[in-house]
Amino acid sequence: AAKNQGRDRYQYFTAQMQQQSRQRLRLANDLHAALSKGQLMVYYQPIVEFGGGTLVKAEALLRWRHPDLGMVSPAEFIPIAEDTGSIVDIGDWVFAVAARQAKQWRERYQPRFQVSVNKSPVQFRKQAIEGNGWLALLQELGLPGDAVVVEITEGALLEATSASREQLLVFRDAGIQVALDDFGTGYSSLAYLKKFDIDYIKIDQSFVRSMVAESSDMALCEAIVVMAHKLGIKVVAEGIETAEQYQLLQRIGCDYGQGYLISKPVPAEQFELLFANGIALPVVAG
Ligand code: C2E
Ligand code: MG
Ligand code: MG
Ligand code: MG
Repeated sequence: AAKNQGRDRYQYFTAQMQQQSRQRLRLANDLHAALSKGQLMVYYQPIVEFGGGTLVKAEALLRWRHPDLGMVSPAEFIPIAEDTGSIVDIGDWVFAVAARQAKQWRERYQPRFQVSVNKSPVQFRKQAIEGNGWLALLQELGLPGDAVVVEITEGALLEATSASREQLLVFRDAGIQVALDDFGTGYSSLAYLKKFDIDYIKIDQSFVRSMVAESSDMALCEAIVVMAHKLGIKVVAEGIETAEQYQLLQRIGCDYGQGYLISKPVPAEQFELLFANGIALPVVAG
């Protein structure tokens, strides 16, 4: 009986794995045409200044409305796009859409407005070879480099080939700012913060989530803020969902906040309303 049980379990796992790889294959195929079929969208999530609550930044986040499967999460399809290489075209498209949007919003609502765009290690690797149209586009739009922040992960710094390091430096020369995403989850050494002249650290949402209950995570966040400020780096807290988290983060001197408490990522038309109507934020007692 034990033998049969083991065998059943084995079959169960292979069936599941088979279904997963079928799904992956399907997504990889469909993703190929998703861009030309207009199924991809860029959503924007506000990033506010603690204190005044002024809306000065947004992160551009990719969305895929699949005709049969509905909304597919970027956590699911970005790794596939990276494997197949389509992340390069898709990433260029996100950048172009976001840069045009930033130009419009700077003119209409907030001259300081900056848009953050994610760039994965794969994009750096491939684009280092193929050249990079991002700077050309900024020039064409007449948009200064500091209208854009590029979000990279610690992995991107660690594995950075000399070509992608060079690309980061070219970005920096053009005035583009650099944010280190998901900070605290990777293995990058603090030396990288200085070496690459990072402008922003984004504290990973896992720390923000646990800081209210875990005093050690709270201490960690505080230490990150102190260290960052000593190095002239601004701190963004990701994944703020409660007023309590917001208040704690403001109290420890965090510079910017992002999370569902403030707003979920929304389409451009909806984001525009936030400029016009403002955002209600928790009051922090002095
Ligand atoms: P990320 O860059 O760390 O983006 C933040 C993620 O946290 C987003 O997930 C956002 O919707 C989510 N988030 C924001 N506030 C909250 C909150 O209060 N609670 C919770 N639970 N989640 C929150 P999303 O949009 O699903 O994107 C997942 C990841 O996919 C991103 O993580 C990023 O690594 C990648 N990604 C998204 N768009 C792009 C893109 O255009 N290019 C590249 N290369 N990667 C992208
Ligand atoms: Mg990001
Ligand atoms: Mg992040
Ligand atoms: Mg991430």
